Amino acid sequence: MSIERTFSIIKPDATRRNLTGAINAMLEGAGLRIIAQKRIHMSLEKAQGFYAVHKERPFFGELTEFMSSEPVVVQVLEGEDAVVKNREVMGATNPEEATEGTIRKEHALNIGENSVHGSDSLENAGIEIAYFFNDDEIVG
Ligand code: ATP
Ligand code: MG
Repeated sequence: MSIERTFSIIKPDATRRNLTGAINAMLEGAGLRIIAQKRIHMSLEKAQGFYAVHKERPFFGELTEFMSSEPVVVQVLEGEDAVVKNREVMGATNPEEATEGTIRKEHALNIGENSVHGSDSLENAGIEIAYFFNDDEIVG
């Protein structure tokens, strides 16, 4: 076990429904500390860069248009095993497959509008944090 940092996004379907506080309460309830947070409206180009790993996938256009359609909240979360812990509290990508009590089970609308993003590895967490935050915006 070690203290890690991971990157999180509260997606447009959730900010639109005023769920930022409800989702933050679930993250904090899982033992994650929000050490950086800002509400932004991503450009399409910024979303395309963020999801470049998915650019060959059939849903790439839909995904990047969705992520740039309305405001999101980008965050850095810190805690014991933060990468895995955040993926656990998020739940499965498809909310129909998500476990009870997870953010996606409680709040996601469908596989695309699934309320949250979370880094899938410690290495990607570092890359994703640096894509959105300067060091002086992160206060652990
Ligand atoms: P995220 O990366 O957002 O945390 P994830 O790691 O659970 O989610 P990925 O496989 O990385 O899922 O897919 C990235 C995002 O692309 C998903 O969160 C979802 O919004 C969207 N997505 C994935 N699969 C589909 C699909 N079949 N149809 C539409 N959108 C999809
Ligand atoms: Mg992913």
